[in-house]
Amino acid sequence: MTLKKRNLLGGFNRFRLMLTLVLAVLLPAAALIYINFSQLSSFKRDKVLQAAINRDFQQALAIFEKNMNKKAYSKVEDVMDLFPSRKDGDAERESKLNDILAKCSCLDHAFIFDGEDLTFQTQSGQMTDRFVREEHDRMVESYRTWFSSKEELKSLIEAINKKPQHIYFSPAQTKRADGPAYLLTAFFPLPNTSSDDFAFGGVTFDPCYLKSNFFPEMLDDFVNQKSNEQGGNRLAMMIYRADTLEGHEIKPIVATAGWDEGNPEVMRKMDDVFRGLALGIKYQGVSVDALGETWMRRSFIILGFLSVMIIGGLALTKHMVSKEMAVAKLKSDFVSNVSHELRTPLALIRLYAETLELGRITTKEKKQQYYRIIRKESERLTALINNILDFSRIEAGRKEYEFRETDIADLVRNTLDSYRYQIEQQGFAFEECIDATLPKVRVDREAIARALVNLVNNALKYSSDEKFLGVKLYRENGAVKLEVADRGIGIARRDQAKIFEKFYRAGDPLVHNTKGSGLGLSLVRHITEAHGGDIVVESAPGMGSKFILSLPLTSVGQGQLNPTQPTIH
Ligand code: ADP
Repeated sequence: MTLKKRNLLGGFNRFRLMLTLVLAVLLPAAALIYINFSQLSSFKRDKVLQAAINRDFQQALAIFEKNMNKKAYSKVEDVMDLFPSRKDGDAERESKLNDILAKCSCLDHAFIFDGEDLTFQTQSGQMTDRFVREEHDRMVESYRTWFSSKEELKSLIEAINKKPQHIYFSPAQTKRADGPAYLLTAFFPLPNTSSDDFAFGGVTFDPCYLKSNFFPEMLDDFVNQKSNEQGGNRLAMMIYRADTLEGHEIKPIVATAGWDEGNPEVMRKMDDVFRGLALGIKYQGVSVDALGETWMRRSFIILGFLSVMIIGGLALTKHMVSKEMAVAKLKSDFVSNVSHELRTPLALIRLYAETLELGRITTKEKKQQYYRIIRKESERLTALINNILDFSRIEAGRKEYEFRETDIADLVRNTLDSYRYQIEQQGFAFEECIDATLPKVRVDREAIARALVNLVNNALKYSSDEKFLGVKLYRENGAVKLEVADRGIGIARRDQAKIFEKFYRAGDPLVHNTKGSGLGLSLVRHITEAHGGDIVVESAPGMGSKFILSLPLTSVGQGQLNPTQPTIH
């Protein structure tokens, strides 16, 4: 496949990948982010959260009123059956009423009206209170006047009978030592009376009991139960006079802890038992508006953060996929390069072996030359196959190094010797400078020789006009340095870090005209790092390259198998 065709194919694959990314990931992600943002904005605009909280508050107040009514009804029902009937005499009536009052301290007054006479009793202990005494007199007087009218009586009896519980509550204002108070009286039929009789009984709740016990207990229980159910912000509730004029500050009669100042978020006028009173509810220490704002802000921040994460994830995916594609491309280049590299020496070996076999070559020199070519090509083949085998071992994590005390000067010299002929044959000026006084070091001989062969081969491959190869071995700063220099095509700065990566080959056309697998330098780096050393390159395009491999003298080859084996990148 030509380079142009391959580039076109690569470009098409890239385009397909981008299209998939955009259609399958980017568009849905962008749509999701957009929808969420616009939904949040509309929530903010329409104050949806605030409306939902208000609805919840309304509902809570309705339930609370129902609970209070139920309790008030049950308190009255508790004493209804104890009431005297109209057949009882005066003394008996009074004593039964007093018993009821004694039994139920939450009541201030109890009375019966038998159609003609009113028997009205008040808690005896309370009669010392001036306000209760005055209230007693006032009530007796006003009830006598009220009940003397047949019309009034009729409408009262109707009101009682209209209620499913047959109890009619009538609120009024009164006074106690601490100021105005709420007076609640319940009217109900007497036991054993028919609905046509104008006879009924009644009790009046103690306003102090309502203010100090009934209301606070009901409020606290409800607020606690609600807060436990819902969690989050604690509620605060209060009861106030329903006739508070609009615009005036609402003053609570009773409030739960944490009410503080300010108006309720939601109010409800009570319309059954506790007429004349109203309920108020809010969150402790925070307004619903502020709560809505905070929630909005938090939601926007979370959404913003998630969006950034999605975008970051996309960028990362694109980066990873591009990288994988680049590696895939490198791999396919590698396969075609390697197969070519294998074919060329094999073809040569076959050609020269067949020629020799035919026996046409008569001169000894010619024969020698053919043998040498066959040996050289098979050496090239071996080197390439060794590289591939080493590479696959490293990739599989199975590469092992065998460190042995080695005279490194000897090792380098011997390795170069087997290449000397080839180097000089190719017209290279060869300079060798080996420090023979170096101490013995523990290295894997085969691996170091392979690293050197790879560097020398590269120097030969990537030199064009000026053919020079210099190999130096010396000691510097506690390390043994092996330097391989050429005056060839050089390496661009941006490629210098990448050439040590597997499959990487510089983009230079001169490199592409030279066959290679892109494995050599990655193996050299792996070998060096396994010895605890490093490799650097000094090079500039057109100025040649110098690879310096350093092996620390102290830690070189401390074991049979290096436990922290590097991997090929
Ligand atoms: P290969 O030589 O098989 O391509 P290597 O891993 O040995 O693979 O080298 C990687 C790349 O580094 C080469 O393709 C080449 O671009 C560059 N390179 C290596 N050695 C030299 C050198 N001496 N001069 C110029 N370029 C070099």
